[in-house]
Amino acid sequence: MAADIRATTNQAPPLADHNTVTSDVALVEAVTRHASAATVDALVPLGAEASTAEAREHGLLANRHEPELVPYDRYGHRVDEVRFHPSWHWLMERGVGYGLGATPWTSQDPHAHVRRAAGFFAWSQTEPGHGCPISMTYAAVPALRVDDALAKEWTPLLASTSYDFGLRPVADKAGALAGMGMTEKQGGSDVRANVTTATPTSVDGEYTLDGHKWFTSAPMNDVFLVLAQAPGGLTCFLLPRVLPDGSRNRLDVVRLKDKLGNRSNASSELEFRGTWAQRLGDEGRGVRTIIEMVAATRLDCVLGSASLMRRALAEASWHVAHRSAFGGLLADKPLMQNVVADLAVESEAATALGLRLAAAVDAAHDPREAALRRIALPLAKFWVCKRTPMMVAEALECLGGNGYVEESGLPLLYRESPLNSVWEGSGNVNALDVLRALSREPEALDAWLVEVGRASGEDPRLDRAIEGVLESLADTSALEVGARRLAGRMAACLQGALLVQFAPAAVADAFCATRLGTEYGGTLGTLPRGVDLASIVTRTTPLAS
Ligand SMILES: Cc1cc2nc3c(=O)[nH]c(=O)nc-3n(C[C@H](O)[C@H](O)[C@H](O)COP(=O)(O)OP(=O)(O)OC[C@H]3O[C@@H](n4cnc5c(N)ncnc54)[C@H](O)[C@@H]3O)c2cc1C
Repeated sequence: MAADIRATTNQAPPLADHNTVTSDVALVEAVTRHASAATVDALVPLGAEASTAEAREHGLLANRHEPELVPYDRYGHRVDEVRFHPSWHWLMERGVGYGLGATPWTSQDPHAHVRRAAGFFAWSQTEPGHGCPISMTYAAVPALRVDDALAKEWTPLLASTSYDFGLRPVADKAGALAGMGMTEKQGGSDVRANVTTATPTSVDGEYTLDGHKWFTSAPMNDVFLVLAQAPGGLTCFLLPRVLPDGSRNRLDVVRLKDKLGNRSNASSELEFRGTWAQRLGDEGRGVRTIIEMVAATRLDCVLGSASLMRRALAEASWHVAHRSAFGGLLADKPLMQNVVADLAVESEAATALGLRLAAAVDAAHDPREAALRRIALPLAKFWVCKRTPMMVAEALECLGGNGYVEESGLPLLYRESPLNSVWEGSGNVNALDVLRALSREPEALDAWLVEVGRASGEDPRLDRAIEGVLESLADTSALEVGARRLAGRMAACLQGALLVQFAPAAVADAFCATRLGTEYGGTLGTLPRGVDLASIVTRTTPLAS
């Protein structure tokens, strides 16, 4: 009898209902370590919803149906709005509703930032693009705190768990979202070159802005922190989209960017003509003021990249656990075990470092934790974001041809994967920021030494790597040209120290051998002999709940 040509066999079932929190052992352990088991429990509903087929579908739809610029309404009035697909709103409503915006800044929970970081990590696995406005909303609050009155006015709205979309007076809104406008055509890293001007009005603290921004994401957000040249130098301003009297602020959305990935999110070019803004902080202190927002968004770049890694790993390990070739499950083939185990090591290291940084935010009152955050943020931003594209590409390959097809979700992750390294300070800028911290803030190096020193004597490869960092710091002649190498080594030492203390021995051993020792084989899937691959693969493969 002829075979049924429609029969489909040996295809992995879709990865759904696996709970992005509870099925991630490394995440659960990190949250328990830095917060508590109760914090994990509080995140269970989020993890359950993030993994549903419905959430996955909304993630794909929000990217397929991209935001559209609506410059004019039907009567010809200039409106400068952006229209989103309902799936975008579905994702935003839940992201904000789960408290992933600025909620931790008003929370009494001593672990509010760890909880939020874990939530952001787990929820972003639905779709990464909508994390952008949520991150900027989270990040605006520490910068706002330079001005008591503005912080008092805006923080409760940004901390709200109500997603209230649309350009209306904020007094009528149940919640608000924030964005950031720094980058101009002539420079994004070197914001001192900004040409947008700010002219004081007759009212103290109020200005009008003239100029442009070359990249401003999420232009439908309610309020933006922007940089402009005031008489006293580069200054930070708070720019609302709707004025206090209910009329629209003059803010022309010129174009939406046609981007590689991040396509669910709108990133715009703006023009300001007499645009009303309030000064945030002193004139001439713009970078000092907005750097607080930059630092908080850098944390989300690390968490966002770790989240991409975890989602890619979950898909890869799930697929190989259900797909057979050459007479056996792929997950049982020694070489595939090597690949998945190596992906898992990378993912776990990123997760551990991201959550450690969030714990440093919770403990910001402790000067040592503040100093650790100062240096570990650019280190992690450089290293974790830089390693994400190659990691996601390797995970994609585990699914074979299916991984290259949109329905698998892997292409979306792959297109997103370089982004966190580009924005909020590209790779070089973060590596150079590490040098700045080392040269200007000696307590930052002390904090790094204390942190990596917690694992001292546990693994000789880690000990040698720490010594190597100190030796390269002693040679001050070549620091700038070697900044990436140094940042990478320092970040890997932080990750190694965390894994040696808290991860299973197999994970720490594989990490130390290949990321700190001499056994890196030039690509993922080259873990040396003797690593307990099967146990790492088992630890990392999601179980259907
Ligand atoms: C999707 C997307 C959304 C964005 N959203 C926003 C937003 O909402 N708000 C906003 O303000 N910006 C936004 N940006 C802009 C982003 O932050 C900038 O693109 C980024 O900071 C780099 O600036 P640039 O593009 O001007 O590149 P440049 O500053 O010209 O840098 C180009 C390259 O040179 C390197 N470089 C710079 N200085 C040095 C140096 N001294 N030594 C060695 N190398 C150096 C950089 O690392 C980079 O690789 C967004 C970008 C993207 C892609």
